[in-house]
Amino acid sequence: MDLRCLTQCAAPRGAAVGGQVRITGHHLAGAAEVSFHGAAGPISVAPDAASGGHVLATVPTGALSGRIRITTGSGADDRTNKALRVVDVSELPKHLKLRSGSVHPHRAYFDGRPKVRARYSFKAANPTDVVVRVVRARDGRVVHRAQLSDQRPFAPHNRGWNALEPDGDVADDGRYRFKVGERGRRLHVVGSFTLHAYRFPVRGPHGYGGYLQSFGAPRSGGRRHQGQDVYAACGTPLEAARGGRVQARAYDPQLYGNFVVIDGRKTSADYMYAHMPSPSPVHRGRRVHTGQRVGSVGKTGNARTTPCHLHFEIWPQGWRHGSPIDPKPSLRRWDSWS
Ligand SMILES: [Zn+2]
Repeated sequence: MDLRCLTQCAAPRGAAVGGQVRITGHHLAGAAEVSFHGAAGPISVAPDAASGGHVLATVPTGALSGRIRITTGSGADDRTNKALRVVDVSELPKHLKLRSGSVHPHRAYFDGRPKVRARYSFKAANPTDVVVRVVRARDGRVVHRAQLSDQRPFAPHNRGWNALEPDGDVADDGRYRFKVGERGRRLHVVGSFTLHAYRFPVRGPHGYGGYLQSFGAPRSGGRRHQGQDVYAACGTPLEAARGGRVQARAYDPQLYGNFVVIDGRKTSADYMYAHMPSPSPVHRGRRVHTGQRVGSVGKTGNARTTPCHLHFEIWPQGWRHGSPIDPKPSLRRWDSWS
């Protein structure tokens, strides 16, 4: 049987007299008596509550450090594997202190998976209302706040953030910190991370070609190149630069070959990935997250006589609405961090 301090705690298994402990184990519903170590023999109390998996009990006056024994109505008994440490009230923490904390991933993408998340454990005498904030490092601006009531001290906790500000806008690219603490007191830094709104889609060595591969270059029949080509080895994975919903997934033998169009989340823009060797693994209408695999670099469509490359288009007002823009500046920016 294991043991945890719930109130009046100085450690995971350290409680002051009057504090409540929880003993977890099996077949505990019939617990009749909880015995603590004492100077003149065991000190027994009735459980505060008992169920199959756990027993709650209050540390009685006179209890000393030692293992706790539980006796059932039928006389069977069992002891905790570890000892309870009975502490003096002067040892109880006065305020919340962070015991451990981490933030993952260190480089997070809006709408990416896993979502950026802080994990932490804190020291406090009692269950505490905990404030969690995400703060922009550059200027201290609070972009996310949450209040979590009655969080247990010495227990693992976590809180994720979807990279949206309270008004629903995607938070700016940059460095952020997760902070936790008690309301009205100085918060503790759990960890930091870098947020990006986009991820570079070609996941391997690559090049941008020259003039003919750039946006607006002339094409046969008076057409103009509506995107940017990114050369990479055939089969190099392609990942969504921005999550969203799959708006189109088709095969066009003349121009694009196998292509997929993603309606970007929290942006009016759509993103097209073309010349893939096989149909995209993501289907029309399905939700795709930033960084999710959407296909591979290939040479289908009018790329069949050229080296493998991604043909990438950005449509700020949505695919086939308005006009596409030159995607190269965006690609180069995303390329610089991912
Ligand atoms: Zn192209």
